Amino acid sequence: TYILGIETSCDETAVAIVKNGSEIVTNVVASQIESHKRFGGVVPEIASRHHVEQITMVLEEAFELSKLSWDDIDAIAVTEGPGLVGALLIGVNAAKALAFAKQKPLIGVHHIAGHIYANRLEQEFQFPLLALIVSGGHTELVLMKEHGHYEVIGETRDDAAGEAYDKVARMLHLPYPGGPHIDRLAAEGNVTIDFPRAWLEEGSFDFSFSGLKSSVINTIHNAKQRGEVLEDKDIAASFQSSVVDVLTTKTVKAALNHNVKQVIVAGGVAANKGLRNELVNKFADLDIPLVIPPLKLCTDNAAMIAAAGTISYHQGKRSGLDLNANPSLILK
Ligand code: ATP
Ligand code: FE
Ligand code: MG
Repeated sequence: TYILGIETSCDETAVAIVKNGSEIVTNVVASQIESHKRFGGVVPEIASRHHVEQITMVLEEAFELSKLSWDDIDAIAVTEGPGLVGALLIGVNAAKALAFAKQKPLIGVHHIAGHIYANRLEQEFQFPLLALIVSGGHTELVLMKEHGHYEVIGETRDDAAGEAYDKVARMLHLPYPGGPHIDRLAAEGNVTIDFPRAWLEEGSFDFSFSGLKSSVINTIHNAKQRGEVLEDKDIAASFQSSVVDVLTTKTVKAALNHNVKQVIVAGGVAANKGLRNELVNKFADLDIPLVIPPLKLCTDNAAMIAAAGTISYHQGKRSGLDLNANPSLILK
């Protein structure tokens, strides 16, 4: 089975072809980061315009690199949500036009289902499995007992982990996206500040990062007023240790609680060295297999959408040509 995937939910225009749900044939990603950098974040209008400009070229490149033709393609999978509505619409409309013109089945895919299925491009799933999704817009723990079924057992009540990284980076005057810069600084610094950890109610697998963010702001302000010198690298190290502590502790608890056979990680924050090391150590001790995909598959791409779409395809799920972008689509 060859599935064509299209992803335009945020700031990457991506098209990929995946074989049998687990093998990448081509995975083309056109990133817009450079265009958004000077604004310190993604500007929705600019994102939509870039997608319009890029989508045809990216599609052509994907086919060229694959040496396949439309005859080989079994279905078209596209991210229908969540994301920026104007950005999503470009991908959804391109997919609908192609499905109609080439007479191929159309499959709408949830963006987070895609992030989860990026892992299947690395390793076959073992159920039940637990997925930790840590990206710019999401922080979630998802339990899967079989293919295509998602049970969200925990999620952030305010900021996503990546969002917290980007906001703290901004306070330290680091460029956007700030996550990688904090990660680098954290490795040079020491944990000298005891930032809060939001454990929430006993047994809750939800997250909260806004209190931590406020605490970082206050700490920086208070130090300035008292004329104390705080090193950026120590702030970064202390902030990161709080984030990593909460993420890994809750993931371990959830994994044990639900007796999972595999833990998978997805989203841009999965690139974080502190998080990776801590997860690797903790799950090695517990003897629970852990999968963390390479960075290229952790951030937005269309191979993950094609991989998730392959499961829907085999389960007989189809979308009509009335498929619409849904910026607040629920994962289920
Ligand atoms: P979503 O999937 O929720 O819609 P998104 O697709 O925009 O969000 P990603 O592209 O998966 O999110 O991830 C981007 C985020 O990952 C940014 O917030 C960025 O700062 C963060 N990030 C990237 N590398 C690192 C790192 N090494 N450490 C911490 N955060 C990082
Ligand atoms: Fe994403
Ligand atoms: Mg992104």
